[in-house]
Amino acid sequence: MTSQRADGQYSIELPLSCPLLIDGEEGAATGGGEFQRENPANTREVATVAARGTLEDARAGIAAARRAFDSNAGNWLNNYKLREQVLFRTAQLMRENSDRLAQVVSLEVGMPMRQAVPHIAAAADIFEFYAGLAGKIYGESFTLPNGSLINLVKEPVGVVGLITPWNFPLTQTARKVAPALAAGCTIVLKPASYTPAAAYELVRLMHETDIPAGVLNLVPGPGTVVGSELVTSRDIDKLSFTGETGTGKMIAAQAATEVKRISLELGGKAPYLIFDDADVEAASQAAVFGMFRNAGQACGATTRLLLEDGIHDQVLERITQLTRAIEVGNPAANSTDMGPVISASQEQVVQEYIKFGMDAGFELVTGGNKLQGDGYNDGYYVEPTIFDGVDNSSRLGQEEIFGPVVAVTTFRDEAEAVELANAVDFGLVAGVWSADYPRAMRVARGIRAGTVWIWDNYAQPVEGIWGGYKQSGMGRELGYHGLEDFLEVKQIFTDGTGLTSKPPYGQVIKG
Ligand code: NAP
Repeated sequence: MTSQRADGQYSIELPLSCPLLIDGEEGAATGGGEFQRENPANTREVATVAARGTLEDARAGIAAARRAFDSNAGNWLNNYKLREQVLFRTAQLMRENSDRLAQVVSLEVGMPMRQAVPHIAAAADIFEFYAGLAGKIYGESFTLPNGSLINLVKEPVGVVGLITPWNFPLTQTARKVAPALAAGCTIVLKPASYTPAAAYELVRLMHETDIPAGVLNLVPGPGTVVGSELVTSRDIDKLSFTGETGTGKMIAAQAATEVKRISLELGGKAPYLIFDDADVEAASQAAVFGMFRNAGQACGATTRLLLEDGIHDQVLERITQLTRAIEVGNPAANSTDMGPVISASQEQVVQEYIKFGMDAGFELVTGGNKLQGDGYNDGYYVEPTIFDGVDNSSRLGQEEIFGPVVAVTTFRDEAEAVELANAVDFGLVAGVWSADYPRAMRVARGIRAGTVWIWDNYAQPVEGIWGGYKQSGMGRELGYHGLEDFLEVKQIFTDGTGLTSKPPYGQVIKG
């Protein structure tokens, strides 16, 4: 239960839990195994105790989803009204429980409450959007000159395995669960082990709707056990994964052996281009927001800041001021702008990149330290960090750090800007800031990324799309494209000639 939250404190009771939820029933893992999730802002506190799902549990979850699909549980496949209601009600329940959900996310991720609250609203928006689409899955039809009819009908892809990351746990989950349900699929969800309670709280709320048992199953547990089974099981028709590019490559290779349908939402190293004619204040604010939101732990974080020669000094000065003003600390405090990073190992990775930047001789403009002292010692706190003069081909320019570290590189003209922007293996998002709209549009067309923002560094409207070029993934989430990811297209051909002996038969049958 949630009581009134005092500033700087959570009011939810700890530890949170995350049981298995299979066929509408909550339960412990086979063998009773559990794992703990610490609070990344205060590692002396256990945030969550979750069931450690086993291979057997993964198979039980898959079997439940398979049964629900194959038996058309509750007329789930045909009754779009029911699917619409479940999704609308989920959005409503999320809004009614927004404060609790935001606290759970803030606690497990270390996300400041000021970011966690809108995160819940964004996830609820996704459920509402797909509720509206559940009843708008139209097919196509075409009549041939001989009167035969081609019907193209859209059907749910079947039982889907959904594997999610921890960084924005509820929007990432909503982007998969909502369109999959709208399409009429049944689900086995494997949440990231850093954020099991966030997933459970959502799935539990969804079981307060009229969702038929077995349609949505939750199996927490190790990716290498539960996740892997979702990838390889023949009873899973499609797998949708969001996570690191390295994990995605492994999954793609495994899924290929069964020709399993997959969608991959992977890593990024987004460039943010600011041209000489840009509005310095607007471009700088957008840059700092995009670099340090959720401590830089965002696939779309604009961590490569590409500045044209003439505006370099002004923008660097302004973003440095804005960055130094970022209040890093307790995520539960209303004034906190940036919390800790997710784990000890992630903190170490971030420190290694900072050391690499210094050893390489790039200019450390601000940050670079682990934060220590009162309020910091028990958490994974790193200063927001900016390096200038970074060689784009170095590790700092090429690799996803997934922390608050930004690389600034200068360019001379439009051609070089586009070349630098594209000179990475990733292609998730990019930003362009120029007062010259035709140029901004030209540059946007030249960048190989799934989303290019002009005069923005954030927007992920549910009506749009999200997904990557190159090694940032395959498939698209959000919008109608996100729904199509969970649909198959079937052709039903009806003869319209009425002939007993049709002209092609003569190729085989004489007389
Ligand atoms: P991750 O380590 O790849 O894990 C993602 C999910 O995969 C987790 O649920 C994990 O389970 C599971 N997993 C791990 N190994 C697996 C295996 N062998 N088979 C099946 N599943 C496996 O990624 P993360 O650290 O959670 O997330 C951060 C990454 O996600 C970043 O690279 C970020 O850019 C990317 N991301 C991309 C998008 C996008 O839209 N493109 C959005 C958000 C994040 P465990 O937690 O149990 O290990």
